[in-house]
Amino acid sequence: MAVTITVHGGAGEIGANKILIEDKGHEVKFFLDFGKSYETMREYYDFPISPNSLEELIQIGATPDIPHLYNQPEKKKQSTSDIDAVLLSHAHTDHSGYIPLLNRSIPIYMGECTRRIFEARIQGARKVFDTDIEGLTIETFRTGDRIKIGNVEAYPIHVDHSIPAAYGFIIHCSEANIVYTGDFRRHGTRPQLTQDFINAVQKSGKPDVVLCEGTNIAKAELANEQEVQKKLSIIIKECQSLAIADFSEADFDRFRTVQKVAEENNRELIIEPRRMWILYAINQCRELQTPSVVNNSQIRWFDSEKKRISKYERLLREAEPEVKEFDGRAVTAKELHKHPQRYVFCSSFGSISAIQRIKPPASGIYILSASEPFNEESEISFDKLLNWLALSGLAMYTAHCSGHAHPIDIRQTLEEMQPRLVIPIHTEEPELFQKFVKTSGLSFQIPKQGLQIKIA
Ligand SMILES: [Zn+2]
Ligand SMILES: [Zn+2]
Repeated sequence: MAVTITVHGGAGEIGANKILIEDKGHEVKFFLDFGKSYETMREYYDFPISPNSLEELIQIGATPDIPHLYNQPEKKKQSTSDIDAVLLSHAHTDHSGYIPLLNRSIPIYMGECTRRIFEARIQGARKVFDTDIEGLTIETFRTGDRIKIGNVEAYPIHVDHSIPAAYGFIIHCSEANIVYTGDFRRHGTRPQLTQDFINAVQKSGKPDVVLCEGTNIAKAELANEQEVQKKLSIIIKECQSLAIADFSEADFDRFRTVQKVAEENNRELIIEPRRMWILYAINQCRELQTPSVVNNSQIRWFDSEKKRISKYERLLREAEPEVKEFDGRAVTAKELHKHPQRYVFCSSFGSISAIQRIKPPASGIYILSASEPFNEESEISFDKLLNWLALSGLAMYTAHCSGHAHPIDIRQTLEEMQPRLVIPIHTEEPELFQKFVKTSGLSFQIPKQGLQIKIA
């Protein structure tokens, strides 16, 4: 038994990916992603109850009980982990959220821009046991680089997803070649990225195993980013009051779409300092060539009229002391109420706190331009958002293009990769995944959380 795979998160669940590969031949152990489980979070917590400690997260099964895997800040002398590395596919928290818990002796490999997003999202957060990243050893890579973990070789290749800097991996173990798709799509704004990954898999020979995401395997809506733009245009044009657009804060594609539609309709965008900080971090990834957010005076931010400036605003001012227009950009709730039709307010993950703060005038429109976040990055329930919208007199529209591949694209991807074995992950419907794709003659292993799968 030389190579085994144990899915410690992401088995029958969307997100929470924590996949342990043990290669006895090369004496190497490493994790693919180390994500937060929103499903488990929702089972045990609801505001104001939140996780207290690492021990509690282990107790509820949100993260595996493996000796020396975790950081122990209370101990003077840290033990060393026998895990040799963690490879991170992208910065969504259902893949990266529990990295702060890890033993500081474990090197974490992530893309250069993935690192910027990962750090930007965590920097302004209150430092508690699961958000403290001090002392982590982060190594960065670019697409096509070779990562050596002992004698195991891993090649990260970019894929298209609803966040920049997402990667799949091709991994050469002692007796098996493993492919990990991370999260991907083929209908997004840059399908060529995913195609590059598929081509690289084909070139590297027939994989023994593909760990493939299946978020949308049961249900998919056909839409691309241009269609989202068209829909948003129609909705915002007809809206007589404030338009609120709810979309993931690190989704630069969607941000650009909303920005274009706001411009077309002579509305200014209002974002919150946290979102500007994350978009600013993405701006720093030169190769992505995203338009600057801090130098665009059409992008305003919401002034909550608190005496103290927010952490994110402070971080932005420190990073860009030259930018003078920060002050003139603030829009207060009073102005928003006076001229609601002049603005598009960007919120994220059904942000009820944004609705509480701006108290939007009735007859505005709330455009939900995200779907997965309710599974992948949000702890709030959809029902609560609906209650708040009803209370405020806002109507909801939806317009979204998923970050995840459609069922037919999943099947086609696997047919093109031709692995010996498929392990469906990041899906609530692994059996349906198997039945739907199996017609192409592929073999399947449905993973069970914490159970070792022998592959070579
Ligand atoms: Zn995910
Ligand atoms: Zn993702």
